[in-house]
Amino acid sequence: MKVVFFLRGFENLGAEYISAILKKNGHELSIVFSEDFFDDGIFDNFYLKNCFNMNAKQNAERILNDSPEIVLFSSMTDTIRKDLAVAFWVKRMNNNINILFGGIHPTLLPERVLNYSFVDFVCVGEGEKSVSKLIYSLSKGIPINIKGIWYKQNGKIINTGVSDIVENLDEIPFADKGIFSEIVPEFMHYYRIITGRGCPYNCAFCAHFSLRKLYGKYGLRRRSPKNVIAELKLAKKKFNPKAVIFEDDLFLYDEEWLIKFLQEYREKISLPFQCTAYPSCLSENILNMLKNSGCRFIEIGVQTLNEKVRKKILNRKETNHEIFTSLKLLKNSGIKFNIFHITDIPGVLRDDEKKALELYLWAKPSAIHYVRLTYYPNTGMRYLIDEKEYVNICDGRLKSYEIIGDENIDIYNLFGLICILPKKIIRFLLGKKLIRLNSNYIFKIFPSTLCFLTGRASYSMRIYPLYYLRLVKKLFLK
Ligand code: SF4
Repeated sequence: MKVVFFLRGFENLGAEYISAILKKNGHELSIVFSEDFFDDGIFDNFYLKNCFNMNAKQNAERILNDSPEIVLFSSMTDTIRKDLAVAFWVKRMNNNINILFGGIHPTLLPERVLNYSFVDFVCVGEGEKSVSKLIYSLSKGIPINIKGIWYKQNGKIINTGVSDIVENLDEIPFADKGIFSEIVPEFMHYYRIITGRGCPYNCAFCAHFSLRKLYGKYGLRRRSPKNVIAELKLAKKKFNPKAVIFEDDLFLYDEEWLIKFLQEYREKISLPFQCTAYPSCLSENILNMLKNSGCRFIEIGVQTLNEKVRKKILNRKETNHEIFTSLKLLKNSGIKFNIFHITDIPGVLRDDEKKALELYLWAKPSAIHYVRLTYYPNTGMRYLIDEKEYVNICDGRLKSYEIIGDENIDIYNLFGLICILPKKIIRFLLGKKLIRLNSNYIFKIFPSTLCFLTGRASYSMRIYPLYYLRLVKKLFLK
């Protein structure tokens, strides 16, 4: 059966896994990729994005050029509206093509997505097994009754529950990097991989919170070290990457697994890498092991220094003392690190944000990534917003990430400048009118570019300039 995957924005590991299993089962698959320049949450610009990207109808035409029998979409809340618009045009131009939506947003709101007349199926939960079964059934003309694949019959939505979780991740074939390596070879400079799925924590703002509600039993599942190493050995041969990015939402967990894995990694892969950590999971021993195995960047979420709010609203139990200890360990380890911070959390005061600024000035991370608190569907933050706003979110109408008119905008702008200006200047600028400008370019893009040019940007951030270089090349070649 001819399958076309429509993807946008960035490398999508979920899609690579689905592709691997479909190809293994003998299906023909191609991808249509929309780069979404200037619409990526970093270099956002309304005019430039309309200039350099195709619209929904043009993307639908590209899909139809591949003559699909079924089109797959993998959507998040941020992209669902754009993806639905493409699906609308596909169906309008050829009513015989099946449309399937998967990804976190359709998983959490299947009825809402299926209510669109042009959507035929929604995959609820992990898709490797269920999507593969669906395509098999469609190709053989067998009636569809697959756990996790919702559909419509005589206008009625048929709920088939949630797909089974893949307990043994070693069973799944390696992610099919081929779908991206041909069209965006830049992605392969830094090899993205996951060693596990799920998370033992339950932060109220995170998709894992919603998935835990959906699945009930939902913890961290890990691939065996042997399986991960086998994929990386292959990756080294095929793509010769400069570094590895462990995309796990939480990599530094389970010391026993880490010890086994890092030892093999050091001996057989020995590429520099980047990974993620949680404040209460760091120790001197782990950091030493990481450093000796090639770890060059760690990403860690602090989110807020208001301990009460962090516990009550974000459902994060670590203390400020643990956060301070983790940052101290990181600072002393010599491994570069980035901090994640959430703004606009109800109950967080200007004094809390000032304290955070002082802590970050002391810790000297390579970068601070700050984002406005976003209320995604079915997370633990539903009670904080009214019905109207919730409906907007469920329809993919999220508030802008820009922090406009915020009383703490000077502090957040200084977060952006910490990596390039001395402490004294940062303290001097606090509260000054000049620093209250609302400019992503001055306070986010300019410092990030400097970090990139001086080799201080994390591996995940280094991909962006390469990506935009594509645009320059495209224009030039035109
Ligand atoms: S630790 Fe990270 S991945 Fe895990 S629930 Fe919290 S925010 Fe989500």
